[in-house]
This record gives sequence, structure tokens and C-alpha cells, in this order.
Amino acid sequence: MKKVVILGERKAVLVDAPDPQPKDNWVVVKVHAAPMCTEYKQFIAGEPRDYLGHEAAGEVVEVAQPGRVRVGDRVVVMPTYPCGKCALCTAGDYIHCEHGYDFAAFAGSREGSATMAQYLLKPDWLLPPIPDGVSYEHASLAGCALGPTFGAFDTMGIGAFDSVLIAGAGPVGLGGIVNARFRGAYVIVAEPAPPRAARARALGATVIDPRDAGALDQIKDLTGGKGVDCAIDCSGVVPAERFCIDATRRKGRVAFVGENHHTPLPVDISPDMIRKGLTLFGSWHYNLNLFPQIMQVIQESPLIERLVSHVFPMHEIQQAFEVSASGEAAKVILAPWG
Ligand SMILES: [Zn+2]
Ligand SMILES: [Zn+2]
Repeated sequence: MKKVVILGERKAVLVDAPDPQPKDNWVVVKVHAAPMCTEYKQFIAGEPRDYLGHEAAGEVVEVAQPGRVRVGDRVVVMPTYPCGKCALCTAGDYIHCEHGYDFAAFAGSREGSATMAQYLLKPDWLLPPIPDGVSYEHASLAGCALGPTFGAFDTMGIGAFDSVLIAGAGPVGLGGIVNARFRGAYVIVAEPAPPRAARARALGATVIDPRDAGALDQIKDLTGGKGVDCAIDCSGVVPAERFCIDATRRKGRVAFVGENHHTPLPVDISPDMIRKGLTLFGSWHYNLNLFPQIMQVIQESPLIERLVSHVFPMHEIQQAFEVSASGEAAKVILAPWG
């Protein structure tokens, strides 16, 4: 099969790799749509990578034993390789599993662990079905396009009476707009970059520039003087995280989904949390039992098409990475057989 590798700074190519083989309840999926996520960071930094991607939709083509899927099934490929047995896994919160598989030790090599490839290997219980009539491209948005914000909004219980601030209108934040509007919420987006702000506006959000000195006052003006009911940071940068806390009303809820491994966020316990009564929480993805609801968003939201800005045949990986790294795209999807 063909798969994507990053060779160095702004250089990505396709290489040949062995086809993965099914084993136990791990089945082979022929990948038809592989959304690009944060891999552009390694592309820009010149960090070589042999196994890329964690989002996909495709077709089951080989199984080792009878199980939850059959050859020919159209499926979404859920991320990571969790144990499937611990309390978190059995509750559907597999994304937080602490006992994940050593892929290479189980499968004999790491081939099949990447989604930016023509085939991959996955445990059958992490391959929920794609409803009839939903394309592979749209189904693949159940990964990081819609997933992180869907999980957070479910936890926050966002609905039609809520105002929601979304900080950052990259692909995750844009998915957040789609999810929030599907639930009937009033959506404000904080986004400084004009191309991303334009995409947020096209999805029906009210957009402000968080760098404006009066940005917090603008939020108050838009929310009857209170601040938003809920905020979600999709940027992973401290000023935006802080803006979410400051823009949220008393007794409001703030979620963090933008990864930030490097810089601590200053939180002042008494004024920010105790006196204000805020709920702050982190959210990575969504519980597996919410998959049918995500599919409902994909099937029914009139905005879904706008989340996919580019589809590239996988052999155009160099150009696909350049677009993904531009900061101007919505979701960029690779077609491994295109
Ligand atoms: Zn587990
Ligand atoms: Zn992702």
C-alpha cells in the first residue's frame, strides 16, 4: 500500500509500505477519507514522521474472525488504540483509557496504525457504522472536526437558551460553530485571523477580534451585559483560554479542547472560580454512545459542507500539507485512492 511520510522541513511524500493483516478482533479498513489535523506542525518544523493521521472513514475489507463488523461495512475509524476492557473503555470514554495497546507489539509492526494510508488496522468495536447516504468525506468529520466540541457541548448541556463563545476558528472551532448552531445556541466567535473569521461568519457566527481593547465589552453588549453562558477554547493559546474565562458570566461553564502542552494558564481561584462560580473542564473527544448524534448532525446540518474546504488525492500530499499549514483552510481531507 501507499502511505504518507514527512521527510523533513516542508517535505512530504508517499512511500510503499506492507499491507496490514487482520488479527483477532482487529480488522483491515480500506481508507477512503483521511482528514488532516495537526500534522502540519511536524511538516513545518521538519520533524520526520513515518506514521501520520488519526482520523478516517473507510470500508472493512478483511477480518480474522466473526465479530462486530463484516467485510463491506462502511465505518468511521475512531482514534487511538485503547484496551477495550477497563472501566473507561466499557463506559464509552475509551479516549481516556490508560491501558492502550502497544500497536507494534500486538500487530508485529506499526504498519496499519496510520490513517494517512490506503489501509489501516483497528479493533472492530472502534468502527461504528456510517448511515446510508452519508459520504465517506462527511462521515470522517466525526473525527476532530466535530468530535471535540460535540463532547464538550454535550457535557455543558448547551441548548437554544445559551450563548456560546468559541475561541479560535480553525477546523475544530468551525466544527464547534456547526455543533452549537445545531443545538440552537447563539454563537460568538473570537478569531483574529481574517480568513478564519470569514469562515466563521459564513457559518452564521457573530465574530469579534479578541485583540480589540474593547473585546470583553463587545461580548457583554452581545449578551445583555452578563457575558456568555458557555465558552470553549479551540485555540490552545493562553490569551484565548484566558479570554474564555473572562468573557463567561457568573455560574457559567468553560471548556478547553485546544491542546496546550507548553504554557500554563494562570487561573485565580477566588475571583475566577469561587466567587464567579465557574465550571472549568477539559474535553478531548466524545463518548462512543454519542456517535449516532454526531451522525445526525452530519446528516441534518445545512452547514456541514462548509467544514470541508479541500479534498486532495493522497499523491498530492505536498500541496495538501501546504494548504493545511496555511491556517486558512477548514478541514483538508485526503483521498488515499484518488
Ligand atoms: Zn481501556
Ligand atoms: Zn485530529
